[in-house]
Amino acid sequence: MRIRAAVSRTGQIHPTIEEVDLEEPRADEVRVRVVASGICHTDLFCHAGLGMPIPRPIVLGHEGAGVVEAVGSGVRDLAAGDHVVLSGASCGHCPKCHAGRPTYCRDAMKLSFGGMRGDGSSPLSQHGERVHGMFFAQSSFATQVIAPERSAVKVAKDLPLHLLGPLGCGIITGAGSVLEAFRLRPGESIVVFGAGSVGLAAVMAARIAGASRIVAVDISEARLRLARELGATEAIASDETTANALREISPDGFTFSFNTTSAAEVFTLAAECLATEGTAGFVTRPRGAWAPNMAALLASGRRLQGILGGSAAPKVFIPLMIDYWRQGRFPFEKLVHEFPFAEIGQAWEACTQGAVVKPVLRM
Ligand SMILES: [Zn+2]
Ligand SMILES: [Zn+2]
Repeated sequence: MRIRAAVSRTGQIHPTIEEVDLEEPRADEVRVRVVASGICHTDLFCHAGLGMPIPRPIVLGHEGAGVVEAVGSGVRDLAAGDHVVLSGASCGHCPKCHAGRPTYCRDAMKLSFGGMRGDGSSPLSQHGERVHGMFFAQSSFATQVIAPERSAVKVAKDLPLHLLGPLGCGIITGAGSVLEAFRLRPGESIVVFGAGSVGLAAVMAARIAGASRIVAVDISEARLRLARELGATEAIASDETTANALREISPDGFTFSFNTTSAAEVFTLAAECLATEGTAGFVTRPRGAWAPNMAALLASGRRLQGILGGSAAPKVFIPLMIDYWRQGRFPFEKLVHEFPFAEIGQAWEACTQGAVVKPVLRM
């Protein structure tokens, strides 16, 4: 079928909307009419050629939510008309997938960034020429997508579907890191570096978990205000005074730090602010060289933990976040700023400049 999709080509400032052709779903896939899709920094980096290498032309987007319109012959758990949130890519057959740890799937990187299915095919084309798709098993900057059944999470029809896409990447990454990767317990403390969608989801999750102290660190006063509103007990500026401010708040250090930034100096600070046996979690890589004296930095039983997708299984954790949202304990909608699909350029600019926390494109 003919669809509209935002195609990333080399040398463009942002993806541009074009007509492309989409295959019908294979046996284990569904076709979803996309209602809305979040834009994540991974999309920005990949489009700009700064992230993982990707083939082009490609349709990016990996925070899609929509309505199932067609299902493959082998699909059992979904039917036409179901509302779904699309999550990340995993193979379903490796030990990590079998253990319910799909974000650590051995094929996750290839399936997320390869621009194709595991067998090398793409469901997208234009005038008979290949267009790469299946970005994070979605390519959701489009009016319709093909997605594997295993990555589509069914949600109730009374929910505001247009707000739910970011649950599949940014929000699950922040909340999952606190609740699944850290398993933060009541009375433990956390510093969150970067109050974007991932960091603010971590702040909300830390409040749910009963953290004694939740300190948000950011350069933006508006984001620090939002962090306080969402549960941060302290919100402090990210500058040369940060280390001292953290020491004043907790002289013995913090149980956890959660770094959502890619600034090398923040990676150092995130380890230095820990208590003995504290854990510094991170979700991106340091920009430029980071060469600390690791043995000195991690003495006193400190740990450094890389976290993918919040270490959370989407089919379990997305319904959990929705339960928390219904209870008023997880107001992630406060992060969302909507743009019509046609205004993807403005949304791209707003995301790049940090003018909005979580831009969402309405298809
Ligand atoms: Zn993402
Ligand atoms: Zn796997």
